[in-house]
Amino acid sequence: MVSSQTINPIASILDHYPALVIDGALATELERRGCDLKDPLWSAKILLEQPEIIKQVHYDYFNAGADCAITASYQATVEGFAKRGLNEKEAIALIQKSVKLAVEARDEFWADETHRFGRAKPFVAASVGPYGAFLADGSEYRGKYGLTEKELMDFHRPRMKALLAAGTDMLACETIPSLTEAQAIAKLLREFPNTTAWVSFSARDEKHISEGQVFADCVKELEDDQQIAAIGINCTSPKYISSLICEAKKATTKPILVYPNSGETYNATKHDWDGNPIHESFGEQAKEWFKAGARLIGGCCRTTPEDIRVIASWARPSRSRKNIGTM
Ligand SMILES: [Zn+2]
Repeated sequence: MVSSQTINPIASILDHYPALVIDGALATELERRGCDLKDPLWSAKILLEQPEIIKQVHYDYFNAGADCAITASYQATVEGFAKRGLNEKEAIALIQKSVKLAVEARDEFWADETHRFGRAKPFVAASVGPYGAFLADGSEYRGKYGLTEKELMDFHRPRMKALLAAGTDMLACETIPSLTEAQAIAKLLREFPNTTAWVSFSARDEKHISEGQVFADCVKELEDDQQIAAIGINCTSPKYISSLICEAKKATTKPILVYPNSGETYNATKHDWDGNPIHESFGEQAKEWFKAGARLIGGCCRTTPEDIRVIASWARPSRSRKNIGTM
């Protein structure tokens, strides 16, 4: 059951705008600004060491036109921080800091009235990365963890609880490689009935999520869950996205979200990316995904504020006209 108090920031925006602009990569921007992320904790390491830079990146994405910020909690888990010698209380505090940084950036951005023209107040979506991200071995693109639904719920519970207590507007359950994990998350959400989440899978090709299940079947499984406000795909090559949107459309009336990576592939051994980005212009290519039926569009790994600026320019044309003189 969904409480009448349930907040759905996605519907609030899509009731008034044809598209909702998600932000771009956090880690890529942190590295560009000199942070060293070659660490199993990835961007969560910066939560510990350089939180101000994370806040600045969120601010820059709002400024580029993003309607939402995804927090730096993708790889931040109680178990992960325990390996770094943090106790549970310290770990929870850091997870919550990821939300506070995004909320502060949003509030500072929105406090300037010149930023409000032609757009909705942005919201914060707290990243719930998959179990595979905690393993830090590339499993988020494979799945097959060998864990039960209950074990996955137990893994996700403490972080989800902490993120919600810190005041996030919703949850971004992202880069999910397997249907079992998506179902575990959906079931766990019922313990937090006022909450909405999006569920976003990683995919291996035009039709299948990373673990191999048919994407349309996964979407169908989640279709009746009222707490899931949008379903889609992230951290997947742009070349598969239009086809995956068509597959999702067959199975859902929920808004479809896509935020692919730049087309490079992640090398878990090196903690780095191989290959060349295929986007001559990622933001222009994203128009095709809107035409195919996606309503929430942004970028995942290796995308930049400039990519998001291009998406916002066609998704909210009146705003970009106004901003031409001030950029
Ligand atoms: Zn990614």
